[in-house]
Amino acid sequence: MRIKGVGVSAGISIGSAYILKEAKTLVSGIIISDKEAKEIEIKKFNQAVITAIEEVESIKSDKSLNLKPEDLDILDTQIEFLGDPQITEDIHEKIFNESKSANDAIIEVIDGAVHMFRNMEDEYIGARSSDIRDIGNRILRNLNARSVSSGKQYGKNTILIADDLSPSDTITLDISRVIGFATRYGGKNSHTAIIAKAKGIPAIVGCGPELTNIRNGDAIIVDGTCGEIILNPDSEIIRIYKAKQEIIFNEQAFLKSLRDLPAITADGQNVRLYANISSAEELEQVFENGGEGVGLMRTELLFMGRDTLPSEEEQFSFYKQVAIKSKNRPVIIRTLDIGGDKQLPYFGIPAENNPSLGYRAIRISLDKKDIFFIQLRAILRASVFGNLKIMFPMISNLSEVKQAKECLRQVKLELEHMGVDFDPSIGLGIMIEIPSAALMADILINEVDFFSIGTNDLCQYTLAVDRMNDKVSALYNHFNPGVLRLISNVIEQAHKQNKSVGLCGEMASDPLATLLLLGMGLDEFSMTARLIPSIKNILIKNSVSKAREVFKNVMGMDDPETIINYLQEVIK
Ligand code: PEP
Ligand code: MG
Repeated sequence: MRIKGVGVSAGISIGSAYILKEAKTLVSGIIISDKEAKEIEIKKFNQAVITAIEEVESIKSDKSLNLKPEDLDILDTQIEFLGDPQITEDIHEKIFNESKSANDAIIEVIDGAVHMFRNMEDEYIGARSSDIRDIGNRILRNLNARSVSSGKQYGKNTILIADDLSPSDTITLDISRVIGFATRYGGKNSHTAIIAKAKGIPAIVGCGPELTNIRNGDAIIVDGTCGEIILNPDSEIIRIYKAKQEIIFNEQAFLKSLRDLPAITADGQNVRLYANISSAEELEQVFENGGEGVGLMRTELLFMGRDTLPSEEEQFSFYKQVAIKSKNRPVIIRTLDIGGDKQLPYFGIPAENNPSLGYRAIRISLDKKDIFFIQLRAILRASVFGNLKIMFPMISNLSEVKQAKECLRQVKLELEHMGVDFDPSIGLGIMIEIPSAALMADILINEVDFFSIGTNDLCQYTLAVDRMNDKVSALYNHFNPGVLRLISNVIEQAHKQNKSVGLCGEMASDPLATLLLLGMGLDEFSMTARLIPSIKNILIKNSVSKAREVFKNVMGMDDPETIINYLQEVIK
């Protein structure tokens, strides 16, 4: 039997199924009419929430778990949900006005919230339903004084089957022997997808009710590349998939072997292959995958998952750590790019009708200069420990660049007066991710040392397609000829002034785009570290002259479909 789902982490695993069941707590139907008894139920609920928060806090501070920033984010979201006044109020109301027990009130309110989140059109928000389910289970466990069943040891080659992995599962489960995941619910942004991708474990989500056909111990194949599960495969199918698996293993081993080779095209052009990171810990992965530097260090994470702004000292020690760990390889630090889809609750930015077009990134930095100055001071102070560069996000006009540069000049002056060491000629660049900036690249380039093209936002703004809205995702395409003309213009204008251009949006890791961008003259590709070897493989096997021809041919094409078909042929 074959079950279809959405492949969210590529690769093939062949193993045996383990069904991960949520410990179901049933509605008791008990009616509590006595006022004092109701108050006791409320107290029991409140205490269960306090214990639940303490539990999550203790997972957060458990050093042995080696939590990544994204794990901490999940836990912070849970703490936020646990303290959610609406959920608390709804549960109190059910106990008081509807005479329900705390147990029943929690089940009903959480079920309602999960249902509401699951039906949200925004896939990212929809995926938060598993956070709500998870905190509901945690409160119930504490209310009914049941112990947590984490830390289970799985057998070798386990493929976990679940409705949806809860965020706590993804953090606390011992998945060292887990080789695959398949879930009934969930989409590209689900926790299962995030953890599977990060750990390189094949995974399929959104398999639907057919998943209930799988029993504990069933032989099973998860094809995360095609999004297909094969249940109880016969020996011939197993042979075929083992062969496919071997091809993938060999390919991975081959790509690993490229790690120490320089990224030089067949006709001798050096191309910089850099990585995008959000934390110092990720640097190891960058160098393991042959990355020669960091083309984009997002600093938002440092500001997220907390209640107050990070101090100058906190920021300084973070940037210093990155500078030291990168051992003089270049690291481009982008100043705060908050707003839009990345909100900071403690910033108190009022809701906006069009957050992507609103108060965000450099606009906030220039408005709240005290915050901007602290960040610039921290980066400059750290600059003596490595090869740091500064980059401003979301530039839409010349005045913003000039104002931001003036801030940098003032901070440098201040540090000089104080006798604090910093790199006075620290490299300065801007993100080109707004069409106006791409069109006036010839003007902006006079102000900076380099450009980095942010195709994620450039596509969003050029095509008027919300990058987070799955309903219109078919229109979001970096091969749109309009987008390609903007990218090409940016590179051409920068090169006229002998300045360098990188690209740090997702397009940099799209193998179909590699030759096209090389042909346009792109100097630096910056991407998720794990994808560097496959892009290097394309670069070293091809020549700039071939890439130029590809670029010329593509610029003569009218629509993304023709371009994609052509590029697929070329890369074959
Ligand atoms: C981009 O917009 O392409 C980019 C790299 O920045 P972010 O994804 O952080 O907006
Ligand atoms: Mg961007």
